[in-house]
Amino acid sequence: MAPRSYCSLATLFVVVFLPWLPDAAEATPWFWWPPSGGGDDSYCLSWRVMVEANNAKGWRTVPAPCVGYVRAYMAAWGGQYGRDVAAVAGQAAAYAAEIAPAAAADGLDAWVLDVDDTCLSNQPYYQVKQFGPYDPVAFRMWASRGICPGIPAMQWLFQTLKARGFRVFLVTGRDEETLGSSTVANLNAAGFSGYDRLIMRGAEQLGQSSVAFKSAARKRLAAEGYRLRGNVGDQWSDLQGGCVGDRVFKVPNPMYFVP
Ligand SMILES: [Mg+2]
Repeated sequence: MAPRSYCSLATLFVVVFLPWLPDAAEATPWFWWPPSGGGDDSYCLSWRVMVEANNAKGWRTVPAPCVGYVRAYMAAWGGQYGRDVAAVAGQAAAYAAEIAPAAAADGLDAWVLDVDDTCLSNQPYYQVKQFGPYDPVAFRMWASRGICPGIPAMQWLFQTLKARGFRVFLVTGRDEETLGSSTVANLNAAGFSGYDRLIMRGAEQLGQSSVAFKSAARKRLAAEGYRLRGNVGDQWSDLQGGCVGDRVFKVPNPMYFVP
């Protein structure tokens, strides 16, 4: 075929078919169409991976087709969620064993752990709410009861870190005035006793973002001389900002997003 004929075919393609091609900037990948009806485990697994990888940001609630999927994922400590948390705890403990301070060390090697859905589970609360959007009043009522179960793998990690000679600081965005006493009692009852300090939001920090509040808390610890060797949290906002620690560990949480 002569070159001129090729040109004619190309021109025909552009004129006839180009208007029907999707706009690459707006098209949804074929594999990411949400299910039109009930749950779709493949879609929900993709969504959960996006959440854990911090590719999905700012979401307010579990997508409706995935409520059943998240309920099943979170259902029991022996299920997939429990196994995923145990895997994170195992990685953190292996790293802690590598860097464990010597017996004669200065006592300044430290870890930071988040509280909600890192040490204490809010799964019973969110399951009742069908994993709906954050409700500060209802959540405060739940947290004030002090009955959050301890997350078993994190209880083990907490005790392992203490036994390895690390200082362990718990940093939570909970309000100290309204939830201080219930949080302390809950932690003790759930197997998290013997931490070095529980850092909560004071009145002057209530309007701060999680990243700003937790970064400032870690910076104060660093200013006191502590070396933050590890940092564990269920939200990326626990693990970003300043003084994040030498290594961070993300605990899975497909229930909610804290910016
Ligand atoms: Mg948390």
